[in-house]
Amino acid sequence: MTLSSSFRRTLALVALALPAAFPLGAQPEPQTAGPYNTLIIRNATIIDGTGAPARGPVDIIVKNNVIEQVVAGDAISRGRGGASSAPVPAGGRVIDGTGMYVIPGLIDLHMHLNDSPGIPLEYQYKLLLGHGVTTVRTFNVGQMTPEQMVAEKQRSAENKIVAPRLYVFPFWRADPRDPRFSNAADAAAIVREWKSKGVDGVKMAGLPGEYPDIFKAVADEVHAQHMGLAVHIAQEAVFPMNAVRVAADGATTVEHHYGYAESSFTDRKIQKLPPDYNYASEPDRFYQTGAVWLQADLEKLHGDVIDSLLATQARTGFTMVPTMVVYEANRDLERAKSLPWHEKFTLPDVMAHWQPNPKSHGSYFYHWTSTDEGDWAQMYHRWMDFVEDYKNRGGQVAVGSDVGSIYALWGFGTIREMELLEQAGFSPLEALHSATEVGAISLGDHKLGAIRPGYTADLVVLTANPLDDFKILYGTGATRQASDGRAVQVKGVKYTIRAGVVMDSQSLLQDVQNMVSKAKTGNATSGGRQ
Ligand SMILES: [Zn+2]
Repeated sequence: MTLSSSFRRTLALVALALPAAFPLGAQPEPQTAGPYNTLIIRNATIIDGTGAPARGPVDIIVKNNVIEQVVAGDAISRGRGGASSAPVPAGGRVIDGTGMYVIPGLIDLHMHLNDSPGIPLEYQYKLLLGHGVTTVRTFNVGQMTPEQMVAEKQRSAENKIVAPRLYVFPFWRADPRDPRFSNAADAAAIVREWKSKGVDGVKMAGLPGEYPDIFKAVADEVHAQHMGLAVHIAQEAVFPMNAVRVAADGATTVEHHYGYAESSFTDRKIQKLPPDYNYASEPDRFYQTGAVWLQADLEKLHGDVIDSLLATQARTGFTMVPTMVVYEANRDLERAKSLPWHEKFTLPDVMAHWQPNPKSHGSYFYHWTSTDEGDWAQMYHRWMDFVEDYKNRGGQVAVGSDVGSIYALWGFGTIREMELLEQAGFSPLEALHSATEVGAISLGDHKLGAIRPGYTADLVVLTANPLDDFKILYGTGATRQASDGRAVQVKGVKYTIRAGVVMDSQSLLQDVQNMVSKAKTGNATSGGRQ
């Protein structure tokens, strides 16, 4: 153990003794309330999301859904009643932030609103909010239409449902009922139609059949309409897609790890694949999408590839969204299956979906071997080095979790992604920056993702310092030593505030646990999803 980590541990112990972890005079609080004419979070320490260090004490003054002021107190006057003592008007609220930390609401750029039976949206939303995730960029799965997604977005914006802020990016899919999706000449009209309905961007996955004609048409219109274009590049042995090219042609984000290793290939090089490889087999495909990193030209990857992506970023604002968490099962399957939160927070239908089944996307672990995990562990080394290098050279890397698949659970996945960025080499401040301001910039909303006057009041109030340990954000908490020597779980997310609406985070997570226990005991009739 290094001196500094032992010092940090001592600080954490001391912090436990502060009253903030054990609120006094607890009156029953509403689960959700506000927005307020005036909301003051008094005497807190903020980590503002821009990458700036923690500072405090400050008072954050919110009027309705906007941060009006951040009043810095003199650190020397700590303990003298806070930085500002302006009276609060009737109907206002004060949160005593003494000993607490406030960060911007977390932004998760890779989410799928899932309308499958047995997986209520309320469950997904409360898991996210309970972990401080106030904004998600969501793609659709199942039967959800762009119109239904926009309707959810509007209900959330109007505070009719308890949900994060939604940015809606429907999938571009070949549709036999609407041949326009397969025709470059019609693509722009669909993008404009979606825009007029309230859609924020387009998600494209796969690509070879759409590339470059349809893709270019979509990308050009998306840019003209100031929308976003998220791309999941498919591995395609015949025509290896390439992240550098797709970004340069107009993807505003590239999802996952696909297309980077291929970008280090020459135009004639094709990934080496075993003779019995079949692209339609998910176990084959998932293994080989990782193995391609072991064939990458590392010098070119860290040279030309990063140079090109940075040049595109300067031109278009391109952002990398790695979603490392959703592939973690590939490098350690048993860990992913037995995560401590599955018992109380994972619905039986969700767990059923993850069991090996050719009908379920991403549920391919029939014969996943030690060697497969070894290769994936090496792949992660290369991928993480690449992401770390990209960030250090000025690249934008945002947090996205792609939860709902491969043992990655809503909310928990967002926090885990921040931990994985740390494992790649990000400092805690950098990982938090990726989960806040970088996400906001990528969404094109410059009033989100930071604690600043004039910004939207999306805030998370924490009873412990997230820069000491992101695990305090987990719904299951982080283990700490109490003053009597016992090990206790510190669940650090106290309030999740979205557009000035204050939510009791742990109460939301209790609702989730109730849903799970009810599903386990109450309805043995649920047949699980297909
Ligand atoms: Zn996804």
